[in-house]
Amino acid sequence: MIMEKQRLEIIEYGIRLLRTGLTNGTSGNLSMYDPETGYMAITPSGIGYEETRPEDIVIVTLDGERVDGERKPSSELDLHASLYRMKPHARAVVHAHSMACTTLACLREPIRPIHFLLPCFGMSEVPVAPYVTFGTRELADSVAKTIGDGDACLMANHGVICCGAGMAGAFGLLETCEWCAELQWRCMCAGRPAVLSDEEVQKAVARFAGYGQ
Ligand SMILES: [Zn+2]
Repeated sequence: MIMEKQRLEIIEYGIRLLRTGLTNGTSGNLSMYDPETGYMAITPSGIGYEETRPEDIVIVTLDGERVDGERKPSSELDLHASLYRMKPHARAVVHAHSMACTTLACLREPIRPIHFLLPCFGMSEVPVAPYVTFGTRELADSVAKTIGDGDACLMANHGVICCGAGMAGAFGLLETCEWCAELQWRCMCAGRPAVLSDEEVQKAVARFAGYGQ
């Protein structure tokens, strides 16, 4: 079975997405990319995460040509493919309608650096891509034009998308975005959150470089 390791990882993290409450039902989608073959493994459209089997994961080229699998691939195939095209380090992409990120996305409000955790994950801000109908190439273009140097982007009135050098990294970034978005939303409910200055952001990033074992 081609891309078996990636298929199993997609299933594992799909279940984690559901069980950690970052998504519900069949919403959201996950993919992984193999630069050697140019193939992408992506979740099938409309199948529950806990019911997905390795053979349900669809293998496609970045142009959407099916290489292996009987299922219809996720409707956001173009969105995933465009991130692999523009981010050479990306090997995994996770898209979800997690509540706090989607709340800010509906307010069309970027996630701002009100806590040092966001810059420590490599982003001074998570921007909001203009609204476009889901599952279209135009949505992929909207995110590609907005995401910039970071690995995460909110999608207006829709949700959030993150990529990473591996699935653990992409998923961890999604969890961080969700935590920061919830913090910002809570602050916005109570008043006006104070945003860290560029100088403080840089100091936090420098400090983070020496963090951990
Ligand atoms: Zn979506």
